[in-house]
This record gives sequence, C-alpha cells and structure tokens, in this order.
Amino acid sequence: MKGRRLYLDGVSVVFDGFRALNNLSLVVDPGELRAVIGPNGAGKTTMMDVITGKTRPTAGTVSFGESDLTRMDEAAIANLGIGRKFQKPTVFDALTVFENLELALKAPRGPLACLRWALSGEAEARIAATLDEIGLAERAQDAAGILSHGQRQWLEIGMLLMQDPDLLLVDEPVAGMTDAETEHTAALLARIAGRRSVVVVEHDLEFVRAMNCRVTVLHEGSVLSEGSIDHVQNDQRVVEVYLGR
Ligand code: ADP
Ligand code: MG
Repeated sequence: MKGRRLYLDGVSVVFDGFRALNNLSLVVDPGELRAVIGPNGAGKTTMMDVITGKTRPTAGTVSFGESDLTRMDEAAIANLGIGRKFQKPTVFDALTVFENLELALKAPRGPLACLRWALSGEAEARIAATLDEIGLAERAQDAAGILSHGQRQWLEIGMLLMQDPDLLLVDEPVAGMTDAETEHTAALLARIAGRRSVVVVEHDLEFVRAMNCRVTVLHEGSVLSEGSIDHVQNDQRVVEVYLGR
C-alpha cells in the first residue's frame, strides 16, 4: 500500500519549564486506526499540535514517511496529506450537506488538485462516494443546520475526506453524541482507516472498545501503556493513574 508511517521518537515539548510531552515515542502504521487515551493534561492535544506543526517540539523526531515534520509549517504539513478534525464543527449551516462537501473539494491541498477536479468532472462521483462513506447520502440536499450533532460531526469528517488525507487526526469526536451516534462513529472511523491512517483521541472507553484497534495510553506526556483495549484496561499502571479514579 502507498501509505506512510507516522513516527514520533523521543519527543518533548516544554512550556515555561513544564513538560507537556516528555520523551514521547509512537509509531502509527499506514492504514492503522489508533486510539489515544489518557487523563486531562496527559498531552494528547499537544501531541496532535506537534504532528500538525502548530507546536514545535523542544526535542525529538517527528516524521511522516520520508518527511521531517519538525522542519515544516502547518500549511506544508496539511499539503503532505495530514488532516485534523477539531472538536468544534466548522460546517456551513446554510449550505446543504452536498454543498459543504463540494466546498471542501474546492479548498484543495494544492493548485494542481484544483485544476484536475475542475477539468475532470469527477467531483460529483467523489462527493457521492464520501456521502456513502459517512452515511449521509439520504441527507445530501438537507441544510447542514438541521443535522443532529452527530451527523454534523460525520459531515465534518467527510469534508476532511474530500482532501484525501493519508493521515487523519480526530480529537474527541463523540463528546455530546447519543449512544447510537457513538456506535456509528466507531464504525465510521474503523471503515475509513485502512485507506488512510486515523489517530483518534477520546475519553469514552466504550467507544474505544467499539473501534477494536490498538490503544495508546498517555500519562504526563509519555506512553504509559499500549496494546489492545483489554491489555491496557488490565494494566495496573493504567488502572492507578486513570481508570481507577
Ligand atoms: P490533554 O489534551 O491530554 O488534556 P494537553 O496536551 O492539552 O493535554 O495539555 C498537556 C499539558 O500542557 C497541560 O498541563 C496543559 O496545561 C499544558 N499546556 C498545553 N498547551 C500549553 C501552552 N500553550 N502553554 C502552556 N502550557 C500548555
Ligand atoms: Mg485535549
């Protein structure tokens, strides 16, 4: 497969003497779905910030395939095919679901992509495929503003997929979702991984279990435990700092 490996080794981030990341090492394989859990302040968001170039590491290696992400700015990293979903949706309420996806397509990673789509007329097929992928085909002509909270989150994931990322970073996607929406989101993320790598930060352990993937537990800026959900839930160190509370 074409994918590239995300590689973090010995990464530290120090804010005013405070170590938000402390010698963090993590490898995510091409096409892998990875969950990252950990208590508040563990460094999960900072890890995402380092991967996307928002925050510069004080020390360590951060690479994606052959590319050294510590030498690139946020725009260059996005162009490389690393997409990030924030907690707050940024969909346009007055536009339809279809139009939101169309708009995401017109904000291409590079000028060549724009030219190619404008000439090819493949755009509609691409939007239709994404609608199927996110399970909103029947809502295509509805205004985004009338979607449920969960459906808006899926639309936003769809908008990121329109950029055809090779790595997607998702921060707390199921906060505020119903149980049914949470289940759907786990299946959705498991489905879209495989064709690209997906790293999901989340607190909801039932959701993490439903994704059925490798889990990394962060604590005080480092990896405390890693493995299957059963492995980490039974790891005594994890129970002490996180689950046992
Ligand atoms: P998480 O997402 O796991 O809850 P964060 O990565 O947001 O944790 O934060 C890790 C630690 O780093 C926290 O103690 C937080 O207060 C601190 N931190 C994060 N960003 C900054 C910043 N820009 N300046 C100073 N401290 C920060
Ligand atoms: Mg966070």
